[in-house]
Amino acid sequence: MEDHSADALGPCAARPRSQGWCAIRNALSNLTFLVTLLALLTIPFLELSVWPFLVAFGVAYGFGLSVTIGYHRYFAHRSFGTSRAFQFLLALGGCLAIQKGPLWWVATHRLHHRHSDRPDDPHSPVQGGFWHAHVGWMFASDTLFVDYAVVKDLRKYPELVWLDRLWLVPGMLFAGLCYLTMGWAGVVIGYCMPLVIMLQATYAVNSVCHLFGSRRFETPEQSRNNLWVALLTHGEGWHNNHHHAPYSARHGFAWYEFDLSYQVIRVLALVGVVWNVKVPPKHVMSGEERTAVEAPVAV
Ligand SMILES: [Zn+2]
Ligand SMILES: [Zn+2]
Repeated sequence: MEDHSADALGPCAARPRSQGWCAIRNALSNLTFLVTLLALLTIPFLELSVWPFLVAFGVAYGFGLSVTIGYHRYFAHRSFGTSRAFQFLLALGGCLAIQKGPLWWVATHRLHHRHSDRPDDPHSPVQGGFWHAHVGWMFASDTLFVDYAVVKDLRKYPELVWLDRLWLVPGMLFAGLCYLTMGWAGVVIGYCMPLVIMLQATYAVNSVCHLFGSRRFETPEQSRNNLWVALLTHGEGWHNNHHHAPYSARHGFAWYEFDLSYQVIRVLALVGVVWNVKVPPKHVMSGEERTAVEAPVAV
């Protein structure tokens, strides 16, 4: 039975008198996204060679992996097991990628799977159009009141709850470090540019991958497999595969569907950092399954 107590509705809904503060906090968090974007306008005034830009793409890839492996495949779908220490590092990486706190991210994403392309989906392009699904939904006031009852498994870890409340702090410290070591150019190229690249790629999973691409599986929603989004998001673009078997740590089911996140998870499993990696049986990945949901096998 689901927990519908006030506390289960998240920090904002649990304290009605602090809703003003929550609104300010939400506005500030969205302002962060705008500031990172506007900071790029100062690039023409910086004297830079091509190397800092290549480094920026490398940093963006690192941030992206913390979201795809950490926030998405581990926290939201429990696709593998790991230690409490590595779990904290994954959550910290998601905060550095300014994708908000782990509880908020996971609650929102689980609601997406529960109500995919139906009215209660937080970011469906089928319901709200492309730009709503891409970024507009982040500015909707109801994103303040995400149902935290769906993240009870995460709320039992105090460090995750605190990180969820203070999710902006790691990023601010990182930006400060960039400034102290490399000046303003370090903030723009070392942090803001990677964030903008990575955020746009992440947004594309919500918008593009429910509109453009192929459908291997006749899932109830309009999810699609999209090669370009998969390349930009380390395998998240195989979104139709993902909706077909959400528990799977592997999103690229065919040999030609490159899935960097899964390959990194395999390496982490080899060195013992993660374990019980869930992958669907072959007949589920090939679409020859008898039912849509099959027990996963751990590899
Ligand atoms: Zn989806
Ligand atoms: Zn998912």
